[in-house]
Amino acid sequence: MPSLQSIFSELEKLEERKILSKNKIQMLKNKLKEVQVDREKLQKRIQQKRNEKKEKDLQVRDKELRVKEEEEKIRKWEAQLRETSKFREQKTLMDEIAEAKREKNAIEDELLELIFQRDEIENELKKLEQESEKKFGEYQEIEKEIEEEIKKTESEYDEIINRIQEILKDFQSNFPEIFGYYQEISVDKKVRKTIAKVEKSACTSCYLVLPPEIEARLYTNSSYEICPNCGAILYVESEEENQLEDKQIQERK
Ligand SMILES: [Zn+2]
Repeated sequence: MPSLQSIFSELEKLEERKILSKNKIQMLKNKLKEVQVDREKLQKRIQQKRNEKKEKDLQVRDKELRVKEEEEKIRKWEAQLRETSKFREQKTLMDEIAEAKREKNAIEDELLELIFQRDEIENELKKLEQESEKKFGEYQEIEKEIEEEIKKTESEYDEIINRIQEILKDFQSNFPEIFGYYQEISVDKKVRKTIAKVEKSACTSCYLVLPPEIEARLYTNSSYEICPNCGAILYVESEEENQLEDKQIQERK
């Protein structure tokens, strides 16, 4: 049968690891989100440039068509002019031809400006696409790394939870009374740590320095005490466990 101290000791450590693990998962998820947002922003910028270019292309095509229309009119009227000998008709046609030529010149000026703008956008787009290619590769790599780290940490978290469940079963079947109290304070948000080791004569949940009699009882005949300030379950590690832990730390080195 596991001792109450050893249950407390392991539970306390697992609870701490559980919190660290949970925070790490949250931190990683936030980081992943940031990278995804950056990547999406870049994608949007490229898409915007592509749309701008498409729009300019359309405008250029429209002006080109209108130039052709004017040329068509001029050609038609010039043919009519060659065929007629009536002065009035000649005069009208010549006026119309002159007007169409003016119009054509004006459209051609606009067309040149549009082509210039389109070329500029095209250059910007090319530059942006070249720069982004490298960036997208980097984003993909970072996202993959973070996703793997999340998966790893989540499986660590699951292991911690499973181990906690195992210990709680032992706890419940061997020490049902204090287990009841443990369950009660587990849902109490005011208790920062449900199980707190006594360190330097203080509760490690609320840091209150404990009355000497509580500590004295813990070291003599009591396996646990309740912190008079925060309600955490207080315990001290037994001599053997300290030694065992020292030995484990030594072995890990
Ligand atoms: Zn306390």
